[in-house]
Amino acid sequence: MSEPSIFSRILAGEIPSEIVAETENVFAIRDIAPQAPLHLLVIPKTEDYRNVVELAAGDPALLTEMVGLANTLAAEHADGDFRLIFNTGAGAGQTVFHVHAHVLAGGLAEGSLGG
Ligand code: AMP
Repeated sequence: MSEPSIFSRILAGEIPSEIVAETENVFAIRDIAPQAPLHLLVIPKTEDYRNVVELAAGDPALLTEMVGLANTLAAEHADGDFRLIFNTGAGAGQTVFHVHAHVLAGGLAEGSLGG
């Protein structure tokens, strides 16, 4: 068995973090190094999937649930518009290999990907 991921340790209460939402299968926290006015991480409770490609192949309903929670949180904490990012692979900046979605919102229209 490998060590629990940092996100599993947060969920277990071993590392302090504000859990902003939690359902049966998914939870959300504030990113410790925010890259936008709202920067949340939506994370499945299972760490069976290392990245979004594995998740989409293995449990598409869980991926759908993550997208739904991202949408709900963007509406609750910002104006409802958001950017959803899954860094996939170390070369793309992924540092935690327990799949998670970055939910970025607020003042993004002028951003590099926002045109
Ligand atoms: P990634 O680089 O896509 O794997 O994303 C990992 C994210 O986890 C980064 O944006 C980090 O800032 C964030 N992160 C790491 N440790 C913590 C923590 N203890 N609490 C909240 N976010 C964290």
